[in-house]
Amino acid sequence: MKMCKAFYPIAGSRTAWIPCVRKAEAGTGFCRRHGDAIFGVMLGAIVYEAAVDEAVEVETEKWPRREGKIA
Ligand SMILES: [Zn+2]
Repeated sequence: MKMCKAFYPIAGSRTAWIPCVRKAEAGTGFCRRHGDAIFGVMLGAIVYEAAVDEAVEVETEKWPRREGKIA
């Protein structure tokens, strides 16, 4: 049984953290509570973060070119 990889703060402390003792859900590495917290944070960052509408231009001519045959 894999255990959750997250830590949680000791009650009343914001600086002392201990490993989570819950069972990890299959394929995530985290317990349900911590998995939901992570996904909630990621969703909030995506929804509320300002969109970047500037195009990214890359100067490919400055990239090193691979000469000759590819082995
Ligand atoms: Zn956990």
